[in-house]
Amino acid sequence: MEGLMMNYPLTVPSILDHGYRVYPKKEFISILPDKSRHSYMFSDLYKRSKKLMHALVNKLGVNRGDFIGTFAWNHYQHMELYYGIRGCGAVCHTINIRLSQPQTEFIINNAEDRYIFVDATLVPLLESIAALLATVEGYIILNAPKGFSTKLKNSVDYEELIADAPDNTPWVEVDENDACGMCYTSGTTGLPKGVLYSHRSTYLHALVVSLPNVAALSFNDRMLVGVPQFHVMAWGIPFAAVLTGAVLIMPSCHLQSAPFIDIIQKEQVNKASGVPTIWLGIYAALKNNPPAKPLPLKEVLIGGAAAPPSLIENYEKDFGIKVVHAWGMTETSPVGTLSRLQPQHDVLPSAEKIKIRALQGQQVPCVEIRIVLDNGAIAPKDGITSGEIEIRGPWIINSYFKSTSRENFSEDGWFKTGDVGTINDEGYLQITDRTKDLIKSGGEWISSVALEVAIMAHPKVKEASVIAIPDPHWTERPLAVIVLNNQQESIIQEELNNFLLPSFAKYQLPDKIVFVNEIPKTSVGKFNKKKLRQLYAEGKL
Ligand code: AMP
Repeated sequence: MEGLMMNYPLTVPSILDHGYRVYPKKEFISILPDKSRHSYMFSDLYKRSKKLMHALVNKLGVNRGDFIGTFAWNHYQHMELYYGIRGCGAVCHTINIRLSQPQTEFIINNAEDRYIFVDATLVPLLESIAALLATVEGYIILNAPKGFSTKLKNSVDYEELIADAPDNTPWVEVDENDACGMCYTSGTTGLPKGVLYSHRSTYLHALVVSLPNVAALSFNDRMLVGVPQFHVMAWGIPFAAVLTGAVLIMPSCHLQSAPFIDIIQKEQVNKASGVPTIWLGIYAALKNNPPAKPLPLKEVLIGGAAAPPSLIENYEKDFGIKVVHAWGMTETSPVGTLSRLQPQHDVLPSAEKIKIRALQGQQVPCVEIRIVLDNGAIAPKDGITSGEIEIRGPWIINSYFKSTSRENFSEDGWFKTGDVGTINDEGYLQITDRTKDLIKSGGEWISSVALEVAIMAHPKVKEASVIAIPDPHWTERPLAVIVLNNQQESIIQEELNNFLLPSFAKYQLPDKIVFVNEIPKTSVGKFNKKKLRQLYAEGKL
């Protein structure tokens, strides 16, 4: 027998409807690329998102299911795109502005974006590849200064586009399972892979992110979004904040330590988010230049890469700020696990408490994780037995975009994360390794395989293997281990980097090279990365 409850669709526009109905006067603050402060209310966000939705449909001819790209910083217009694009049934494809040109070109063509909304300061990055973007019909410029001009075809100013559109037409009707957002994640072979979120997955994720045991968002909070809006939809915070009535503060491109601290002070930020690299930098800046008055910041959600235990300890000890460590992936929307102390931990000495908080934490509601051993058995929850982490739930990927491959999925439908870890008897996950051949630097991916292939194309190189080495600021950096064709010849860093630059973003280039006579191999002749890591990644360089 079916339950007798309404079948009320869980859609993203209904999140904004709620924010408008219940918190119309809540503030939304943006520090714009030109450093000016912009502030308006949730009711403005609602009305302007509606205007945008109307303009998309009526001026640009956007249909349900079309892909619309955003190439933008964190600010109110990007939020209007979050809601307005979804509000007309289209898919909001947030493009990572830090990718190399070939990767950016690949993902725009792969997504078949029809229009791209681009910040004026980022226009040059698109101008250089625009001729290769087959499906893009036009560009809408955000935050254009007076007299701004661009070579991009069919460009129009954002404010002009929405100026005369009505702000009260109903959202386009969608099914809760319709696609509504897309992010690309790095593939191990170098080609990014698309992850397509649905209205339902986005809604449920936002609800759970808000919970007290998760990001604990409420109308009492002032939340600074330190995660770029192109990184897994800023971890769902822009949706959770509108649901819960938290004041949102967006820093656009001002992600360096000094402006960040300034924003925290001026805007009375009590919660924030970001990858470890940003928060390592902010900690160093605070230590060097202690704030005159205590920071209003109480809690920081850190994830995207492992938060060092010392960082968690130092923030608490020196500034009374609680770091909440979270783990997730683009494929998991992203929040999968998160570490908070529970009442039974009260009696523990502080060093033990830090150890727990440095774990990746417990699975959040709706999500299940398990550790699978090489022989297919499920590992016991003993905190020792490690294996690949598999995950399932309503906001976990079921298939990559335009892909039929089941390589990343178990036979019974769980997603294989490529992360390796343990789970203890209290259900806390600890990441111990990674099976995927990727390096994570400052929260951004570098494909070691793509680097190896490119380095080996250099005429002086016979063999090259690339591994991650720990870095105190970036978490990891790539190290290239190279065998030259002719041992007498030399290849200097600069020569190699110039050779690689057309295909890679600058941050992806190896900043250390070791020349060896031979790269250790496994029994099947593959580069033995485990051995290389033992040799070079354990602080020997
Ligand atoms: P992305 O899809 O770019 O968000 O990257 C997801 C990957 O980043 C995960 O599969 C992990 O390898 C890594 N990662 C994310 N959060 C953490 C964390 N808290 N600790 C360790 N690794 C993490």
